[in-house]
Amino acid sequence: IKLKIKYLFRKKPVISLEIFPPKPESPIDTVLETVDALSALRPDFMSVTYGAAGSTKGPTVQIADIIKNKYGIEALAHVTCINSTKYEIDGILHQLKKSNIENILALRGDKPKDEIYAARKHKEYEYASDLIAHIKSLGNFCIGAACYPEIHLEAESREADLLNLKRKVDLGADFLITQLFLDNNFYYDFMEKISVMDISVPISVGIMPVINKKQIERITSLCGASIPAKFRRILDRYENNPEALKEAGIAYATEQIIDLLSSGVDGIHLYTMNKPEIAIKILGQISNIRRHLKNLNYA
Ligand code: FAD
Repeated sequence: IKLKIKYLFRKKPVISLEIFPPKPESPIDTVLETVDALSALRPDFMSVTYGAAGSTKGPTVQIADIIKNKYGIEALAHVTCINSTKYEIDGILHQLKKSNIENILALRGDKPKDEIYAARKHKEYEYASDLIAHIKSLGNFCIGAACYPEIHLEAESREADLLNLKRKVDLGADFLITQLFLDNNFYYDFMEKISVMDISVPISVGIMPVINKKQIERITSLCGASIPAKFRRILDRYENNPEALKEAGIAYATEQIIDLLSSGVDGIHLYTMNKPEIAIKILGQISNIRRHLKNLNYA
C-alpha cells in the first residue's frame, strides 16, 4: 500500500527516525541491523539520507525499500539535487515508484568546496525549490523539505531564508523537517515568524542527541546550529568521561523533546546517527507521553 506521510500528521505527534546508508566500501548489511533494531520502536516513518554533491550517492532507495516492504514502516527517501541531472533524478523517482514509496525529502545538498562547485558538470538544479517544482510536476509524490530555525548558513538574511521556505511550500512541499537546534527557543521564535507567512504545512522537529564533543562541534560548524551555555557546560564537564557525556546528551535531548511535545509540535524527527540504543532510550522515556498524546487525538 502506498501512503503519503503528510496524512500521518493528522494524528500528531508523528515520531520519525533518520538513518544514513553505509559508506560505499561497507556492505549494506551493516545498516540492516540498525534498521532491524529501530523498526522495533514502531516509528511512524523512517527516513534515509542521500549523499550530496561530490560524495557518494549511496543505496538510499534500496534501504528505503527494505524499511517499507520488509518492515512495513513508511519510508522517506532523501534526494539531493545540487550535483544531479534531471535524468538521474528521474531514475531515482522511478525506482521509488517501483518500491511503492511516494515520499521524498527534496534537498539541495551541501555545496562542495568552491572550486569543485564552480567546476561542477550538472547545473540543472540550483536550489531545493527547483527539485520540488520538478517532482511536483510529475504528480503523486508527497514532498518534504528542510527548514532552519537558526537560519541557513548561506542565507543572505532571515527574511531571505524565510522567503525561500515560503517558495518551497508554494511550489509543493507538503511538510517540513527542521535542522537540529539545541535551544528550543529558536524553534518557538521561528514558528512565530512563519505564523504570519501563510505556511500551514506540518513541521516536524529534527532533534539530534549529542553524545560526544567532536560530533557536535563538527556538526554545528557544518550546519550553523549554536551550542547554548547550558549545553556547553555539559560538554565541558564531561568531555573526558564519554559514558557520562552520553547519558547527559540523552537526557538533554529527552528534555528538549518533552518540552516540544508539550507545546504541541506536529512531529519529532530523531537523527539516530545509526545508533539504535540511543533512540531506544529516548523513545522509552517518552513512550507514555506519546501514548497519551495519540489518545487525545482520537478523543
Ligand atoms: P535550499 O532550500 O535550496 O536553500 C539553500 C540556501 O539557498 C539557503 O541559504 C536559502 O536561503 C538559499 N536560497 C534558496 N533559494 C534561493 C534563491 N532563489 N536565491 C538566493 N538564495 C536562495 N544533506 C545531504 O547531503 N543529504 C541529506 O540526506 C540531507 N538531509 C537533510 C535532512 C534535513 C531534515 C535537513 C534540515 C538537512 C539535510 N541535509 C542533507 C542538509 C542540506 O542539504 C543542507 O542544509 C543544504 O545546505 C541546504 O539544503 P536545502 O534543501 O535546505 O536548500
